[in-house]
Order: sequence, then structure tokens, then C-alpha cells
Amino acid sequence: MEGVSSAVALRRSSVLARHFSQIPTPSLISLEGLPCLHYVPPEANSGKPSFDVAVMRALMDGHHVDVRDKVFNLMRNNKNFHLKTVGDTTYLSPDYGETMSVQRQKTLERVLFMRDNGMFKGAVTKNTPEQFLLTSAIFECMALFDHSLSIKAGVHFHLWGGAVMFFGTKRHHDKWLKATEDISIRGCFSMTELGHGSNVRGIETVTTYDPASQEFIINTPCESAQKYWIGGAALHATHTIVFSQLHIGGKNEGVHAFICQIRDSNGQICPGIRIADCGHKIGLNGVDNGRVWFDNVRVPRENLLNSVADVTPEGRYESAIKDPDQRFGAFMAPLTTGRVIIAVAAVYQAKVALATAIRYAMSRRAFSMAPDQPEVLLLDYPSHQQRLLTLLAKTYAMSAASNKLKKIYASRTPADAKTIHVLSSGLKALLTWHNIRTCQECREACGGQGLKTENKVGQLKAEYDVQLTFEGDNNVLMQQVSKALLADFLSALKRKKPIKSVGLDYMNGPRPIIPAKFESALLRNSQFQVTLLQLRERDLLERLAVDVTERVSRGIPQAEAANQSYQLACRLGEAFAEKQVLEAHLETENQQTGSLKDVLGLLRSLYVLCVVDESPVFLRYGLLSSSQSQIIHQEVAALCGELRPHALPLVDSLGIPREMLGPIASDWVEYNSYKNVQA
Ligand SMILES: Cc1cc2nc3c(=O)[nH]c(=O)nc-3n(C[C@H](O)[C@H](O)[C@H](O)COP(=O)(O)OP(=O)(O)OC[C@H]3O[C@@H](n4cnc5c(N)ncnc54)[C@H](O)[C@@H]3O)c2cc1C
Repeated sequence: MEGVSSAVALRRSSVLARHFSQIPTPSLISLEGLPCLHYVPPEANSGKPSFDVAVMRALMDGHHVDVRDKVFNLMRNNKNFHLKTVGDTTYLSPDYGETMSVQRQKTLERVLFMRDNGMFKGAVTKNTPEQFLLTSAIFECMALFDHSLSIKAGVHFHLWGGAVMFFGTKRHHDKWLKATEDISIRGCFSMTELGHGSNVRGIETVTTYDPASQEFIINTPCESAQKYWIGGAALHATHTIVFSQLHIGGKNEGVHAFICQIRDSNGQICPGIRIADCGHKIGLNGVDNGRVWFDNVRVPRENLLNSVADVTPEGRYESAIKDPDQRFGAFMAPLTTGRVIIAVAAVYQAKVALATAIRYAMSRRAFSMAPDQPEVLLLDYPSHQQRLLTLLAKTYAMSAASNKLKKIYASRTPADAKTIHVLSSGLKALLTWHNIRTCQECREACGGQGLKTENKVGQLKAEYDVQLTFEGDNNVLMQQVSKALLADFLSALKRKKPIKSVGLDYMNGPRPIIPAKFESALLRNSQFQVTLLQLRERDLLERLAVDVTERVSRGIPQAEAANQSYQLACRLGEAFAEKQVLEAHLETENQQTGSLKDVLGLLRSLYVLCVVDESPVFLRYGLLSSSQSQIIHQEVAALCGELRPHALPLVDSLGIPREMLGPIASDWVEYNSYKNVQA
């Protein structure tokens, strides 16, 4: 270590010495005379693309490329989306330096602008796969502009509108969906309470029924039952879905959802409702999150969202699903929409961060390797390549996975419910963690510029951090994935039947034997890569089963036993999701030909080997030897070098308009010139 740091220090001091020796004495300083650093665009530091960028972009976006371009053009042509114009570039971004109240107002105006331009047509009144994908594409573009914009609209359309669509029945659809679509009412979604977030079944809001008036009475019985974090509640929402325990005839029938008005059309808070602001957050300040208390608020009997259970006018509780656990599961199933959308949005944000950091790394130089040589381009440092190109490869693979998830979700049937639950939980956790890690790495890779809000990469961390815990906390979701896989595995063992679970069919075959000798060709072989990730998943699932069974045999209850095996459970969730990503990438890759397929193959190899390289499980449980692990480590570096010539075309294929990237992705010397200070 010491040798390395003194070598760095020596190189640094010789660079500084050269630098100072070139500085003229003060009396001779003239800006014009100095050999100034000129911006050289990334394009000049890149070879020609070996593949068709437009085709690759279409693959990455997966659908509705033309619609996306239309949305970007809408934003280009509306001042409310402009941050500033420098030279001939108008940057599209919110001003994150504005006060919370201005950010909230502008976010609302942007939502209404999108509505006025027909962007939400069919969003909740047309329940078809095509409409779901179309709405998704529009929301993805809105999220690229600003997370607050997509969340503000998402709370209204996906949470409120989705609850009316999927928890409700015809009477609710007829009454509320049209008004939702044209935003003549503004909906929010009150599930979380101060005392309970992830554990929805523990909420304390209580609703009773009054047969005399045929009304439900909603009540916040204590401070911990106040609704918390409710998007839109602080300022703009007129209606909410309230989640509450339903007490009928002295019996608690569990959590149910009700429609309740909280403000009138003039914005006045309704009687019996108290609202407070959640205040300033580390990001997402364009969304007005609020707290809500209900003081014996009466709503008509018809306001119970009754897709799963209903209450007759006389006050009798009715549900086709008798088991309360199953009823709760059925009730919560539609909430997967949010997880699907969040997983997709996370990948797009990672793209913004990477496009900014990689373009910057292809135009900024630091240090020379030898005297009188030009300084080295950041992306030509192998260390920089490893930092950014591994994340780029993961982002490509995850893009395929998020597109696959979206399409499975769009054309789902009731039989797909379990697959979607497991897939969306695992991918939501994996992809949002990846996004935050990518934003952090990109922020560091941009040096000080990464700190500047305008350059986005640093700010994105704050804007997207919430993704890790809302719509299902990532750690909780990963445990749910493992729980589902374990249940299927144990049940198959018990019944002595082949296992049929999400992608676990291979476990019915023999455990594969990994060749002792690793060579590049083997490591880059897709079948071998699939085997590697299957081996890890299988090993973890078998270990988890043994671990839990052994605890149960010692008299520990099943739930507590699973709880104590959390280490294996969390690793299994990751292993499942990372293998799903590989399979999705392969499906996309296998449909391609020529140079585009070759590049996708490089990306896939880098993705898999990086996953293996970073996962301690392979060495911990002896799935690989130390020397095999070292060869994989070296192959990751080799792959980064091979991917380097493709870096810019791959970034261009991400389909993010240049104006939506931080200014350091373009001519950052011109942007920062004194003449542009006032811009
Ligand atoms: C900006 C923002 C917007 C939001 N918008 C809305 C909205 O519109 N409507 C709404 O209803 N809610 C909303 N939420 C709430 C959000 O959904 C919750 O924050 C989320 O569900 C997590 O709940 P919690 O904050 O109570 O955390 P908790 O559930 O208390 O979790 C805290 C920690 O405990 C851990 N933990 C919890 N359970 C377990 C377990 N079984 N095993 C191991 N560890 C566990 C978690 O991993 C987490 O790290 C929003 C939140 C934020 C921050």
C-alpha cells in the first residue's frame, strides 16, 4: 500500500511541478497566450459504433420508442420543463434548488400539462396490455425528467386509480375512473401509518359500520394510527383510499380499503379530517407528502372497495375467501403494479447516471503516464472502466429483465399472480439497490462535479433513495422471495414430486459439476454462466431448507425458524433475482444477430462474471475454488477493456436525450465559461 501511495504521490508532484514550471510570471499572464485545455467531445475519443445504435435503443426501451420521443419533444417545447439554456442547449430538468413549495407547485403544473396534452388518455379507463405499456412508457419519460413528476402522477393514477380499478368493482369504476383520468378529482393512497409501514396488517385505523345510516365510520384511535407519508395529502389531494381494520359486529375482519373525500373542490379540508405536512425530505420534494387523521368520518356503504369482500346494507360481512390470510393476500395482490413500475424506473435512472458519468469520463483527462504525454482520459484508466462499465453491463442486463417483467405483468392472468409476486419483489429490490449504487459510483467518478445538483448524478441518489423502502422495503421483499421459493421446495420434497416454481425446474435434474479448469471461452459460455448462477441459487435454497428444518426440529416455530435463517434467505433472494436478470438478457440476446449480438454477449459475460466476482457465496460455500475465483476476477478486467471501444455507442443506445443529462455530459468547459455565468 505504502509503495503504491508513494508512487502516486511522486507522479502527482511531478505533474504539479511541470504545471507550475509552465505558469508564466504574473506580469506576463494572459489568458489567450496560455495553452488552454479545450473540450474534446466523447465522440472524438470513441471509435465508430460496431452495431446499429437505433436498433439497440429500441431493444433497451422495449416498446413505444416513438411515444417516448414525442414526450421528450413536449418537454422541450414547454418552458416549465427548462432549467437553463447555455449556448444552443436547453437543459431539461427541475431546479432542485427551488423551495419545497415552488417545487410542489411546479410538479403539479407539469402533471396537468401532461394531462392537457393527452398523455394520460386511457390510463385508468382502458385496462389492456397495450395501454399498460403505453402508460408505462410515458411514466418512464416523466421519471427521466424528475422522480417527483412521475411519483406525483403515479400516486394519483397507479395508487389511487389502481386501487379503484383493482380493489373496486363496477360501481366504483363507473363513479370514479373518468374523474380520475381527467384529474377533476385528485386521489391519494393512505395505507402507511406512523406505527406501521411494511407490516400493513398491523395498522390501527378502525372502521365500523352503522346499519341505520348505511355508512362506514372511519376513525384514527391513537397517534400511532395517523396516516403518514401520504403522497398528495399535504396540499393537493381531494380524495383518498383509506386502509383500515374493518370491525363488524364486534369482529375484526382485517384490513379493507375505503374511498373517502378529504378536501372539497375549493381545497378546503373536509369536516372530521385533520391534515399535517410531512415536511422537507432528502429528495422528492416536488411531492407533498402528508399525515392524515380521521375523526369518526362517515362514508357511504358503497365506498368500501369490494372486489374481495363486502358488507350488506344490514351489516353482514361477506367474502368468497374465508381464510383471512388468503383474503389479505388477494387484497394486496394488485399492489404489484407499483413494484413493477419502480423496478423499471430504477433502471432508467441508472442509465441517466451512467450516460452522464461515462460521457464525462470520455472527455475529461487526469494525469499523464509519462512526461510530455497527454493526460489520460478517465475512461482509459482500467480502474475507471471497472467502476463504470461493470455497472453499464448490469444496467443492460437489468433493462432486459425490467422489460420482461413489464410484459409479463401487462398480459397477466390470475394464474400468473405468484410468478409476478416473486419476480416483481426480487427485481424491485435488486434493481433499486443497483440504481442507488450506480448513482453513488457515478457521482464519485465525476469527482467534484458529481456534487453539483445541476449535474444530476449526485442529486439522483437523494431523489431515488426512497425506492429502496417504499412499495415494499427491499429487505422485506427479498425475504418474501425466499419464503415463496422455500415453500415450493419443501412442498415438492414432502409430496415427492418435481419442484414447480418460478424458474426452479432445473432443480429436478442432477446437481451440475463445474469443470476444474477455467478458461476464457468457458467463462464466456452462456450455458456455463446459467449453470453457475443456478448452482448458487440451488445451493442456497437447499441450505435454507436444511437450516429451517433443523431449527423446526428443535421445536422452534416455522416462522421464527425462517426469521433466524435470514442470512441465507437474503442471499437466496439476490441469487434468484440475479439469475432472472441473466435469463432475461439471454432471451433478448438470442433474438439478435451479428455485431449487436456480439456486444450483447460481451455485456452478458461482464454482468455474470461481475455478479460472481462480487458474491461471497461462491467462496463461502465452496462452489468455486480460490484459484477459479481469481481467474474470474481477471476475466472481469479483460472484459472491461474489450467493452471500452463500445462504451459511447452503448451509452447513446440508452436513449436518454442529451438535454436530460447533466451539463458535464456535454461541453463542460463552455458551460462553465465566464460568459455563461449569467445563463
Ligand atoms: C417519500 C415517501 C412517500 C410515500 N408515499 C406513500 C403513500 O403515498 N402512501 C402510503 O401509504 N405510504 C407511503 N409511503 C410509506 C412507505 O410505503 C413506507 O415508508 C414503507 O412501507 C416502509 O414502512 P416504514 O417506513 O414504516 O418502515 P418499517 O416498516 O418500520 O421498516 C423499517 C426497517 O425495518 C426493517 N424491517 C421491517 N420489517 C422487517 C422484517 N419482517 N424483517 C426484517 N426487517 C424488517 C425494514 O427492512 C426497514 O429497514 C411513502 C414513504 C415515503 C418515504
